[in-house]
Amino acid sequence: MRFVYGPVISRRIGVSLGISLTPYKICNFDCIYCQLGRTREKTNVRKEYIASGEIIDEVRAWISANKQEEAKLNYLTISGLGEPTLNTGIGRIISEIKKISGVPLAVITNASYLNDKEVRSCLLSADLIVPSLDAASQEVFEKIDRPSAEVKLNDIIEGLVDLRKEYSGKIWLEVMLVSGVNDDIRHIKKLKETIDRIEPDKIQLNSPVRTTSEENVLPVERAKLEKIKEILGDRCEIV
Ligand code: SF4
Repeated sequence: MRFVYGPVISRRIGVSLGISLTPYKICNFDCIYCQLGRTREKTNVRKEYIASGEIIDEVRAWISANKQEEAKLNYLTISGLGEPTLNTGIGRIISEIKKISGVPLAVITNASYLNDKEVRSCLLSADLIVPSLDAASQEVFEKIDRPSAEVKLNDIIEGLVDLRKEYSGKIWLEVMLVSGVNDDIRHIKKLKETIDRIEPDKIQLNSPVRTTSEENVLPVERAKLEKIKEILGDRCEIV
């Protein structure tokens, strides 16, 4: 299998079969906490990095060979080795996978293309969307996610607000907190105002637990995470 991996167990969504829509690390971000290492070449170009048919065939083959494993899955999860919305075939891939399996389908995205109506409409048949939002200001965004120059935080936020209006499935917003980078309480209060506009079903707070290729990417201590959770309100959980 080249594009399908797992099943994997994650703290966020349980048991899932991963499906990657890009080769190793096609991304328009270079997050300091990325488990995949540095993005060698950031790209904002959308294209069919892997042919949709190849991905769909591989998912179909896995499902037909692993019926017992399929029954244990919480999700089929589009995520993987880069940013999945950069693959222009994502809409077709989602709708074909939904015909192959009754397991709910999740999409994990850095949210950078959610300000594009066409991309949002590609995601509408997913059961769960897990977008990231790590910052409430462009300055903090650039520090933690190191996006390509064209990507603006305000566009991401407006895309998330529009997604909520158009999408009836679940949105679990992931916030990755890195000590000394985006965990300042004033920043968290500003983030809360932004998240209140987005109205996700859940806010999942995360903090790096494994080492990354970067030095000084440190987890936020538990007591502070609890305080941040309290500020962000009832929908927030620490994962
Ligand atoms: S968006 Fe995801 S894949 Fe891209 S750099 Fe950040 S964590 Fe890594």
